[in-house]
Amino acid sequence: MTTAPAAPAAATGAAPAYTQPDYYQLDELLSDEHKLIRQSVRDWMLARLDPIIDDLAQRSECPTHLIPEMAQLGLFGPHIPTEYGGGGLDQIAYGLIMQEVERCDSGIRSMCSVQSSLVMYPIWKYGSEAQRQKYLPKLASGEWMGCFGLTEPNHGSNPGGMTTHFTDDGDHVILTGSKMWISNSPFAQLAVVWAKNPEGRIQGLIVERGMAGFTTPEIHRKWSLRASATGELVFDHVRVPKANILPNVIGLKGPLGCLDSARYGIAWGAIGAAMSCYDTALRYAKERIQFDRPIAGFQLTQKKLAEMITEITKAQLLTWRLGVLKNADRATTAQISMAKRNNVAMALDIAREARQILGGMGIVGDYPIMRHMMNLESVVTYEGTHDIHLLITGLDITGENAFKG
Ligand SMILES: Cc1cc2nc3c(=O)[nH]c(=O)nc-3n(C[C@H](O)[C@H](O)[C@H](O)COP(=O)(O)OP(=O)(O)OC[C@H]3O[C@@H](n4cnc5c(N)ncnc54)[C@H](O)[C@@H]3O)c2cc1C
Repeated sequence: MTTAPAAPAAATGAAPAYTQPDYYQLDELLSDEHKLIRQSVRDWMLARLDPIIDDLAQRSECPTHLIPEMAQLGLFGPHIPTEYGGGGLDQIAYGLIMQEVERCDSGIRSMCSVQSSLVMYPIWKYGSEAQRQKYLPKLASGEWMGCFGLTEPNHGSNPGGMTTHFTDDGDHVILTGSKMWISNSPFAQLAVVWAKNPEGRIQGLIVERGMAGFTTPEIHRKWSLRASATGELVFDHVRVPKANILPNVIGLKGPLGCLDSARYGIAWGAIGAAMSCYDTALRYAKERIQFDRPIAGFQLTQKKLAEMITEITKAQLLTWRLGVLKNADRATTAQISMAKRNNVAMALDIAREARQILGGMGIVGDYPIMRHMMNLESVVTYEGTHDIHLLITGLDITGENAFKG
């Protein structure tokens, strides 16, 4: 009788093992600072979250108790200037941080992405100086967590059709409507909400918990991103001070600009999830004996593993180059779409193949693969679905818009 290889050390509480694939020696493209940042995030994730992440996901619990430590590590607003409490780091560093967080779990990366790219970024980019001073240091330190309200029950891929709106009320506005599928909403202290003004143009507002008529019911029974809290935002005639309107952007380009930043982070993050699945499957295949030899020796297992490392390497190159362009402020929305779409699909395919390599053991929480796979089913849909991103590439190369009537 053969026995399955031991579960990964992280699941048993022992010192965790993880080997990063770097088939093309891409580390040579990184600075010492990049590598140091990556290592410090990886060490923290391995020590503090890997040992508990399966349990959190099984119980559908978000580790909000770790928010202060995550803030201290620099996970919130790494690309926001230091004068507002951010990390002042470049885009490659931001990407590497997202990669290391998602190597552990896409839900935790979602929490960090939302805080950094969908809450801090719009306040920094589109906010007044008073709004920046008031909110950004609190968000960087994790004292306050934020969420981003764009999607509505009847408007997902087509956010421009949103019905959430506000009317004038002197030095306030009255906000009415609802948002759906909002990451972090159940515990966030503030929401960056996109709504139509009396002229029907989209504007961003900062809505704080405690404002009368504002509630954040949680969405339960998810099979995906179970360690990330998701909810609704309900605005029942909420009086919001006009001082909370983001003054420096109007129209859909406001939320889309934030999504560019978040999708860029997702492109890196998905590589982390793929690396975790590949590393787990490779180790398992070398140890698991069937027919008196390691299953790594069978051609069909090698085909799976060889294709995985090929796809990870291609995604790393694509994403590193995108980071270089982003650092120079030259990355286009369509280029970011391509990387988000490619890398998430790549990670999902790898998770599915890796699960097969583990056989029955692939479905249990002792290994991270099934959790990654289920998480990636959300990542492939949120921040623009797989198909919408394809059509963005189609629009970019043909000039014909196939997704808008
Ligand atoms: C766990 C989770 C967390 C999320 N977090 C947030 C958040 O923090 N903030 C936020 O604002 N939103 C969030 N979202 C919402 C997410 O961005 C939307 O789910 C996504 O944009 C898709 O919208 P939808 O679900 O309404 O699907 P739909 O838009 O209804 O799409 C359904 C299907 O139709 C296809 N489709 C739609 N239009 C076209 C077209 N023109 N051509 C071809 N195919 C089309 C889509 O590709 C998809 O396959 C989250 C979602 C999930 C699942």
